[in-house]
Amino acid sequence: MQVGRSVGGRTPGRRFSTSMALVVLCGAWHATAVVAAGYRTANFVVDAPTEALARKIGDAAEQYRQDLAIEWTGSPLPRWSRPCPIQAQVAPNLGAGGATSFVFDNGEVFNWTMTIQGSEQRILDSVLPHEITHTVFASHFRRPLPRWADEGACTTVEHPVERARQHRLLIEFLTTGRGIAFPQMFAMREYPADVLPLYSQGYSLARYLIERGGRHKYVAFVGDGLTSDDWSGSLTKHYGVGSVPQLQHQWLEWVKLGCPAPPAAVAVAVTQVQPNDWSRTPRGQSPDPVPAAPVAATPAALATTAGRRSIYASQARRIAEPGSSQPVR
Ligand SMILES: [Zn+2]
Repeated sequence: MQVGRSVGGRTPGRRFSTSMALVVLCGAWHATAVVAAGYRTANFVVDAPTEALARKIGDAAEQYRQDLAIEWTGSPLPRWSRPCPIQAQVAPNLGAGGATSFVFDNGEVFNWTMTIQGSEQRILDSVLPHEITHTVFASHFRRPLPRWADEGACTTVEHPVERARQHRLLIEFLTTGRGIAFPQMFAMREYPADVLPLYSQGYSLARYLIERGGRHKYVAFVGDGLTSDDWSGSLTKHYGVGSVPQLQHQWLEWVKLGCPAPPAAVAVAVTQVQPNDWSRTPRGQSPDPVPAAPVAATPAALATTAGRRSIYASQARRIAEPGSSQPVR
């Protein structure tokens, strides 16, 4: 999904643990279309341009809610006390995007609202699973996640076309000075002003970790990091990586190699843990017109951008100039 301006809805003056309204906003949003028909399921009330669309979206939302909760946490979500309203704007050429808001209060989460827009196909195969994953995480963690971990994971359940687009953007950002150093990214609880790199980098890192441990481990890693606020400790515990900077280094090497699949032994272990690999499940009806092959960004190629501020470019300079010991931060 195209990601546009972002909003963090922290309630002024309130502490993190008491009450917090969060908005996760994903994509270009135009509050112009008129919704005309409603449809209610156990957990959603959908407004959409037609009754048929409302029904399709509502039924898909329920299915995603069931499947994605199990996929990420191993358990289905209990029924919400009140259904989540979904306002859907559907048109063939409407940019894909969505926003989900909810309130945390004393360990509870409620007051869900969701707005989604795009073509019917993109809503059903990308926007909806992305936004539903936000609700799964909010229900599971009952507190805000670092934005990269939230948006990154939500992007991994989008259609392959959208994920390939994020990868192309990632390479662009990393080679033009817009990468975010991991220690900084791990500390972000709100969206940065330059939000697009957070999405593409968050997606890539979530993918990297999920390919090495599956979705349940990813959720356990995030949960431990949230509880302890010791992300390096949680990385060591779940992935055997010593620190956040070390993870950045490993991830950068992986990106430079073209994001290769993990070693067979790791892949087998992940498959055994989670046989239902969501990221390989084709959804929707669209063909994938975009080559999914990753961009082979070599250190030599990256060295041409060494004068820029990107963490990727900095890493390239370090490789290109062995005398330089400037650490990547
Ligand atoms: Zn999102």
